[in-house]
Amino acid sequence: MLVQWCLSAQYFSEAELHAAAERITGDAADELQATVESMNGALGPFALALRSGMEQTTGDRRWAVVSTSADPISALGTPYPPATIAVLRHLLELVVTDDGYAIGLHHAVREAAAKCPAATTRRVAEDIVQRLADDGWLTVESQWVGVGQRACIELQPYLADAYPDCIKTCCLCKEMATRGIVCAACAEVLHPHCAERLESAAALSCPACRQRMANSESFGPHRPSRQKSETPL
Ligand SMILES: [Zn+2]
Ligand SMILES: [Zn+2]
Repeated sequence: MLVQWCLSAQYFSEAELHAAAERITGDAADELQATVESMNGALGPFALALRSGMEQTTGDRRWAVVSTSADPISALGTPYPPATIAVLRHLLELVVTDDGYAIGLHHAVREAAAKCPAATTRRVAEDIVQRLADDGWLTVESQWVGVGQRACIELQPYLADAYPDCIKTCCLCKEMATRGIVCAACAEVLHPHCAERLESAAALSCPACRQRMANSESFGPHRPSRQKSETPL
């Protein structure tokens, strides 16, 4: 029953998983690890797995039922029309290969429209981008589009395989980073949440090279220090 709950919920917080596990199996929170292992045993034959990732700004853990197939974007098929899948694939590529890990919203909508059938209006393209953001695949913040937390959890193997030179890993927690700051001295990166954890004790210094990170460049959506300006529509 808990496996069924996960399959219908698809993408949920750790608190929601705890609550469901407690309600359905009566397991206490400290048994979550064992519960997840047994669920992964049940999901394995269907090329599915329960995986988690840290929300990079807040540090909250989120879980998702992920496809372990070679092309997890195609496996998303059911809820989305092919054009939406094509838009997601294309926008993820644009964001991940962008130096700053974000593209302007107008640019994203224009690119989305170009991936859709010819008669698609700008309004429909906007709705597709918004739906992908609402479902966690992308994030839209202050007119910038970035990689959503759900994509970090579900599509990480795909992204790492397709864009190996573009994937950043936080040097503190070792999870994929699609936003944060870059050390000017050694180019290692930190999530916003991980930087905050380190900074609370003292002035922030890079865990890798020990240099102060006072004027570090940030990356990901909603970056005030961003130099590149948005091209008008
Ligand atoms: Zn981190
Ligand atoms: Zn460094």
